[in-house]
Amino acid sequence: MHLGLEEESDGFSKLATFYAERARGGAGLIVTGGISPNRRGVLGPNGARMQSMRHAKKHQVITEAVHREGGRILMQILHGGRYSYHPFNVAPSALKAPINRFKPRALSERGVERTIKDFVHSAHLAKAAGYDGVEVMGSEGYLINQFLVSSTNHRKDRYGGSFENRMRFPVEIIQRIRERMGDDFVIMYRLSMLDLVADGSSWDEVIQLAQAIEEAGANIINTGIGWHEARVPTIATLVPRGGFTFVTKRLMGFVSIPLVTTNRLNMPGVCEEALEERCADLISMARPFLADPDLVIKAKTNRTNEINTCIGCNQACLDQIFKQQIASCLVNPRAAHESEWPLDARTSDPRRIAVVGAGPAGLSAATELARTGHAVTLYEKSHQIGGQFNMAKRIPGKEEFNETLRYFNRQLELLGVAVQLNTDVQAGELLAYDEVVLATGVKPRAWNVSGAGEDARVVSYIDVLKGDVELGDTIAIIGAGGIGFDVAEFLVHDGRHDFYETWGIDKEFGERGGLNVPADVTSERTVHMLQRSAKKMGGGLGKTTGWIHRMGLKKAGVQMHTGVAYQSLSPDGLRYTQDGEEHTLAADHFVVCAGQEPFHPLAEDLKVMGKPALLIGGALNASKLDAQRAIKEGLELAYALR
Ligand code: FAD
Ligand code: NAP
Ligand code: SF4
Repeated sequence: MHLGLEEESDGFSKLATFYAERARGGAGLIVTGGISPNRRGVLGPNGARMQSMRHAKKHQVITEAVHREGGRILMQILHGGRYSYHPFNVAPSALKAPINRFKPRALSERGVERTIKDFVHSAHLAKAAGYDGVEVMGSEGYLINQFLVSSTNHRKDRYGGSFENRMRFPVEIIQRIRERMGDDFVIMYRLSMLDLVADGSSWDEVIQLAQAIEEAGANIINTGIGWHEARVPTIATLVPRGGFTFVTKRLMGFVSIPLVTTNRLNMPGVCEEALEERCADLISMARPFLADPDLVIKAKTNRTNEINTCIGCNQACLDQIFKQQIASCLVNPRAAHESEWPLDARTSDPRRIAVVGAGPAGLSAATELARTGHAVTLYEKSHQIGGQFNMAKRIPGKEEFNETLRYFNRQLELLGVAVQLNTDVQAGELLAYDEVVLATGVKPRAWNVSGAGEDARVVSYIDVLKGDVELGDTIAIIGAGGIGFDVAEFLVHDGRHDFYETWGIDKEFGERGGLNVPADVTSERTVHMLQRSAKKMGGGLGKTTGWIHRMGLKKAGVQMHTGVAYQSLSPDGLRYTQDGEEHTLAADHFVVCAGQEPFHPLAEDLKVMGKPALLIGGALNASKLDAQRAIKEGLELAYALR
């Protein structure tokens, strides 16, 4: 996967460190993020290309580092076609993608020929850079996919019309790379097996293409699921683990070269299961290697419970890439920043350190402080570690948060952190330590509308998620941030339909693209969400997952009210104005999700006693706090205290 380092001035040495760490951790074969074969195919204006020896030379540091660790690495060649986000993009036909504001120019027949030559030249340069081969990106809706499907390919020449003509472009690319590179060069082809767009490929076409690609000289076929413009989740955490291995399985036996399966395979058990059930010959993972570079070696040595599991949140990886930032990982902020926080760093001044609060910030600080050589005691007032993650893991589709807690529990054990649960520690007890870190989190913000304070219908999201209240049939959620959305999901999810029915995925491939009519998932409960801002509801959610939450709640019939001014709460309901009009909303309960404020009751006492504490996570600043920031602050603090 693309990390954003490809375009940085010193990015190649960082990429070398990143990939070498994964090779050392046991990855059998590494595939780089997409590199364009020419200027028109780059994804953004400064996107990485492999078009000259000057480019190839820059990559050598990567291939040498991986080979030194005994690894193997392919370079992915990716031409964005109409997804390329710049004004000089090209495509089979001049048809704008719904997710791009730049309309492409249609390639002439000579342009197609030149592009094929660029793919071949790029493969040749990849070899010169030391790569063991290339992966040709033929999925996710990029240029090759656009040739394959008639809705994006209106050409009248030998590259348009019948399927034989439409698949000529990828087949010629593979044939000509093989001719040029000979046998001692791996060619993997990423084949879009389930497009998830209307008029996508039919299953017969998928088989026909796979066989032609093998015939043309590919050694391995990898699976691609869904075009980027598809409105079906393919990798988010709500996708069941191994949820698309059934697609690769269907192709097994139709070709004789190995098939790779992919998407939401994040732990060894689910991979073993896919292999045992003959879903594929090989397993591919991207984000799990951000979360844990040693995933394979831990699996091989029966240390699965030490794996830092990818929770499928996309927050620090894909969402950051879309913000033109370097990708990293929420559960492993070291990812793609390996040289900033070297794993072997040790303190020259070991101290006794108390960390108060075992939420994500405290867990990260305690484990990293212990790793660098301090003697750490972690105090937690509840009976378990995890802080707000213990609520997050109850949200349907967020069960993966359990894995992060399992990981931290194991790290605390391995690193010898003294954990004191059920301990509401007092300032006086902390004076014996050399340093005190407060990671005591947040408290929910109160809803200050007149009448709310004394009304039993007003409850907090904490009461709801802990199951402390029996809710009625009509609910109003006050506040529509991340927690408001999660609470709505919690309230409407009734488990009547599985993931495939909900999102209209046809496992039988009856229609082109594998799409079906989604099931009616309207909730039996009436749920309203309200916010004061007139902006789009959920606009602050992640770029790659916000649309899933918004669409999911709309499907469930949740009514969203923006630009609301709260007036008062009375037995009749909530009086509010919207666009100058007065409304009254009657509900059985009003669940307050109005944001949070820092909680650090010990900070003042410690200051007065002459032992000022170090604050991290929500205790430091609750505004725009999320787990990514909380975990990163714990790591940063440990390295600052070295
Ligand atoms: P907290 O998690 O609040 O932890 C503070 C800890 O300190 C608690 O365990 C508390 O018991 C303990 N404590 C307090 N006082 C004392 C004391 N005196 N002595 C001992 N212990 C004490 N973030 C994301 O990034 N992505 C998500 O998808 C996401 N989903 C969420 C869903 C829900 C339903 C909720 C509620 C939150 C979600 N969050 C999410 C937010 C994320 O969980 C928080 O940002 C994060 O937990 C903050 O970490 P923290 O360590 O600062 O505080
Ligand atoms: P939040 O995202 O800041 O949202 C708070 C909501 O409350 C807003 O909709 C706000 O809208 C409303 N609000 C603020 N002050 C109010 C007031 N005085 N009275 C009534 N309404 C008020 O906070 P959150 O939902 O509590 O989430 C906390 C953190 O956890 C966030 O940083 C979030 O990113 C993170 N989180 C992330 C996810 C995820 O999926 N990535 C999920 C859950 C939580 P108006 O001001 O317009 O009314
Ligand atoms: Fe996985 Fe989230 Fe890390 Fe991305 S940020 S690799 S989705 S855990």
